[in-house]
Amino acid sequence: MQSRARVVIVGGGVMGISLAYGLALEGWTDTVLVEKGELTSGSTWHAAGQCPSFIADYTLAKVHAYSNDLYSRLETMTGEATGWHGSGGIRFATNQLELDHFKRVEGVAALMGFRMQVIGPDEIRRVNPFVTTEGVLAGAWTLDDGYVDPSSACNAMSKLARGMGVTISRKNRVLGIEHLSNGEFVVRTEQGDITAEHVVNAAGCYADKVSEWLGVNTQFANIKHQYVVTGPVQEFMDRDTEIPVIRDPWSSSYFRQEQKSALIGIYEGHDTEEGWGGQTPPWESDSELFAPQLDRIMPNLERVMERMPVLEAPGIKRVVNGAISHTPDSAPLVGPAPGVRNFWLATGTGIGIAQGPGCGRFLAQQMVHGDSEVNMLGLDPRRFGDYVDKAYAQAKSHREYWDMYRLIPPGEERPEGRPAKKTPLYEKLRAKGCVFTEGYGWERPKWFSLDGREEEETFRRNNTFEVVRAECNAVRERVGVMELPSFATYDVRGVDAEALLNRVYANHMPKVDGIVLAHALSAKGRFATETTITRLSPDRFFLLSGALAHQRDLDLLHNAIRAGEDVSVTDRTTEFTTLVVAGPRSRELLSTLTDVDLSTQAFRWLTGREMLVAGVDVKALRVNYVGELGWELHVPTEHALQVYDAVWAAGLPLGIADYGLYAMNSLRMEKAYKGWGAELTNEITPVEADTVRFVKFDHDFTGREALEEAFAQGCTTHLVYLEVDAVDFDVTGGEPVFADGELIGVTTSGGFGHTTGKSLAFAYVSSGHEVPGAKLEVTLLGERRRATVLAEPVCDPGNERLRA
Ligand SMILES: Cc1cc2nc3c(=O)[nH]c(=O)nc-3n(C[C@H](O)[C@H](O)[C@H](O)COP(=O)(O)OP(=O)(O)OC[C@H]3O[C@@H](n4cnc5c(N)ncnc54)[C@H](O)[C@@H]3O)c2cc1C
Repeated sequence: MQSRARVVIVGGGVMGISLAYGLALEGWTDTVLVEKGELTSGSTWHAAGQCPSFIADYTLAKVHAYSNDLYSRLETMTGEATGWHGSGGIRFATNQLELDHFKRVEGVAALMGFRMQVIGPDEIRRVNPFVTTEGVLAGAWTLDDGYVDPSSACNAMSKLARGMGVTISRKNRVLGIEHLSNGEFVVRTEQGDITAEHVVNAAGCYADKVSEWLGVNTQFANIKHQYVVTGPVQEFMDRDTEIPVIRDPWSSSYFRQEQKSALIGIYEGHDTEEGWGGQTPPWESDSELFAPQLDRIMPNLERVMERMPVLEAPGIKRVVNGAISHTPDSAPLVGPAPGVRNFWLATGTGIGIAQGPGCGRFLAQQMVHGDSEVNMLGLDPRRFGDYVDKAYAQAKSHREYWDMYRLIPPGEERPEGRPAKKTPLYEKLRAKGCVFTEGYGWERPKWFSLDGREEEETFRRNNTFEVVRAECNAVRERVGVMELPSFATYDVRGVDAEALLNRVYANHMPKVDGIVLAHALSAKGRFATETTITRLSPDRFFLLSGALAHQRDLDLLHNAIRAGEDVSVTDRTTEFTTLVVAGPRSRELLSTLTDVDLSTQAFRWLTGREMLVAGVDVKALRVNYVGELGWELHVPTEHALQVYDAVWAAGLPLGIADYGLYAMNSLRMEKAYKGWGAELTNEITPVEADTVRFVKFDHDFTGREALEEAFAQGCTTHLVYLEVDAVDFDVTGGEPVFADGELIGVTTSGGFGHTTGKSLAFAYVSSGHEVPGAKLEVTLLGERRRATVLAEPVCDPGNERLRA
């Protein structure tokens, strides 16, 4: 076996094989895939092979689209049988909420070019004459998906990869991985060592153990999942055409033809169990199935028989009980591993047959080019932090499994694993009616239920609408306070701190006391992160990024430090919480709590300093995301209560109100503030996002060359700010945008601007449609609504409130 390779992939399941093929397609063929057994001998071989295209998430829809397309072509490409059946699928809706969800997914399907129709019970029975439609309002019929034979398809992909130069080493266990001081890795295998530039952990149920070798925390739960295969079904034998795969939330099941028999898979609720007693499987485990546990799925099976009575007579002939690695949010772990450069994860997928090829393709792009063509944030393993321990991962992952076929209503807060991270203010705000939502483990105020109401579960505007309006009005007219504990916070200091930040960020660093908004870009000139940087002294900078950027930005900064540089990057996230005090009366309020002169001239917009507020040393920054006169107070966490109580007491005579993230979103949309992860993603350059004013081309920074080229060429995709003629549902992102009936773009985020009374959105559209005044249409819950491109923010376009 070779002793050097550019990439070593640990694991020959669908994820590892898809990646090997994806890398080869991108030109990296010096890859060794090491598998301890035969290819696909982990979870992959026994999977049911379904590949749905009913997907609400825009990125995952692209992942599934690629997989389905590849599977449908593999046989022709390789001459190998893959068992691809383009049977399509029908998912049932049994209530209005699910029906509304269908309309949202229909929008995503339109963007992807998936054929999808919402059909009524009569049409469902025409397509599948054996199914009962009791309680079914409609079906989402997707025509371009189906199922595949996982092992055959993987063998076909591995044949393609091998043909392009990839080496596959079977029956060869990886015994350990060592990270060398020069950045390379030594992968120790039963058949010898391989030195590699990159290592990918695609070890499926073993991925936690493989990560541990490099000190990386990778958590998920290996949950047992069962499907049964019946004897031959007479009614199937009498037909030439195959029924589509049925997905039924009422029985929490999928069922389809398996030749002339039926295959029925169950996602049982609240009685789930992990393989190997919740531990990592032993290395000897190979092509392992667990003993059937029919009692656990019997109630669901009975419902399936009620749904499709013809499945009862043939009886159950085979039970497959295998393990699936489920993550705390059900999305796979695909991207850089935290803290170790060039160590990657391609694992943690609950539906890896459907997602493998797409994940492999987009991860390969990221590894080879630094960026992929899709927004990888939702797949990035660093969306989780160290707060995800075994107990947290198990609580969340089991809940995700129970909810595989249950629609999670918008606004629903599931309690599992919470609170993972809270500040001393948590109990106080909770007692005041705060409804929290979780972000990177942090409990963050979403809205305040002052009269005890609970949020109605609907995609439409609900009973929080008027509450949020009141919160927004308080901020625009008086003063509001919000705790945001989740900012990723770093101290960068040293003689070379400025040089480091100048290399990483496209903007100039500010003068002492100044604040800039700065973007780090990839080599392709696309957004890697967005950071607010305050210069506290000549060689000391205070950096604030979004919650999800916590580990990503630490990696970014650490990786950019050059040997011998005098600079340190310290993570201070848990040391601080943030109180945002904003509104026209915020100066009046804070003046009573500090001796510092807060006047317009003395404490200008976009400046910050360390000062005493209510006797506590805080960092006060004159910036905020709601577009008002106001200060972000970065308060040592242990003093959060003291400062909050003082702010509240001083604010009472001024009409202070608590506000949460719902209000913040409404207020930032009125100011047309873009969001990292929504508008600013790894697919987009500052030219497309219209943020070139934050780029200074006169210094050397990562991505400059590519950005200069993009700037010179101009772009074909443009971010636009829209006013939407919405009735009772606002843009949330991922909705298609049309001009004269032609699909020309996609929304990225939106919301109702309560203080202006306008429904607002951001969207990327193709050239020619970005001109202010252009008339477009956005599909909202199945209806085309008129939308107009706006030239400027609907609130305070001249930033006068901010500068006041
Ligand atoms: C009953 C059942 C039905 C399913 N049905 C579907 C379905 O219909 N559709 C769908 O999309 N998904 C389905 N799945 C899920 C799917 O099987 C998994 O998501 C997918 O197979 C995971 O692939 P993987 O490559 O991550 O892991 P695996 O297939 O487990 O591959 C990991 C590989 O790594 C190897 N390995 C681990 N450690 C080492 C080491 N140290 N050295 C060398 N090799 C190592 C293992 O031997 C293994 O082969 C089903 C799962 C089950 C259990």
